[in-house]
Amino acid sequence: MTFSRNSIASSSYMTGIEDSEGIPYLYSRGYKNDDTVIDLGASRIGGKDFIVAAGPCSVDFDYLPDFALELKKAGASVIRGGAFKPRTSPRSFQGSGEAALRQLVEARDVTGLPVVSEIMDASQLPLFSDIDILQVGSRNAQNFTLLRALGIQPKPVLLKRGMGNTVEELLNSAEYILQGGNHSVILCERGIRTFESSTRFTLDIGAVPILRQKSHLPVCVDPSHAAGQRDLVAPLSLAAAAAGAQMLLIEVHPEPERALSDSHQQLTLKQFKELMIQIRRIRESLERNI
Ligand code: PEP
Ligand code: MN
Repeated sequence: MTFSRNSIASSSYMTGIEDSEGIPYLYSRGYKNDDTVIDLGASRIGGKDFIVAAGPCSVDFDYLPDFALELKKAGASVIRGGAFKPRTSPRSFQGSGEAALRQLVEARDVTGLPVVSEIMDASQLPLFSDIDILQVGSRNAQNFTLLRALGIQPKPVLLKRGMGNTVEELLNSAEYILQGGNHSVILCERGIRTFESSTRFTLDIGAVPILRQKSHLPVCVDPSHAAGQRDLVAPLSLAAAAAGAQMLLIEVHPEPERALSDSHQQLTLKQFKELMIQIRRIRESLERNI
């Protein structure tokens, strides 16, 4: 990289579209202009499609398949559920592990919907053989060894933005996966750490149109972890849908007050049903306005 090249403020290198050799990044619209659409049979992620993934923060109860059927009835197209939880304190509940993964697979069989769960380490890949989408958590967003390992396997990856990462860093993390040959990556804004403490994280809504401009990859928003409290999940979801997100990842629990992780931010089924009605209205009004 030469100084003169780096000093051209308006060059695509500076805006992260191509590298210093002028080669487009694989995530960029310069490499591929059309939106990437990830086809999961029952659900398509990206392009003009809009889908909602819903389920508990962690599978900490033993009737996930029944609950997943209720989520499907309410309009969820993907079922989420944490099995291995990256908790801030090692003394907090660490997830139900393989028992949770078994329930997710059962939920998929019962609903016919794809399931997503967080993988914390490449050594866990064999355990995730029946999980449809592999989630990389915010705390692992720059675990380049994990990202590379997910790049050389075929399953779609839901890549969360690190809570201290810029948009460009998120895109570079995606590049690690794409470089391995796996082109099924979903970018997920989930809130960043700022000086503001009235929400758990600050949802960077501006990141949504920026990511849509810069990248052909599907853009997801997780309003639950940004909000940290359930009464904020609906307005943040609606803002994300209006800003151009193609997917939402929402935590819903049959009994949020009894949840072993993120109990304050998980919606009840009733709240989720009401939110889905509002989301449909926003989507319809956007289409009418186009
Ligand atoms: C989660 O989705 O349950 C999670 C832990 O999210 P994040 O990595 O964004 O904190
Ligand atoms: Mn959570």
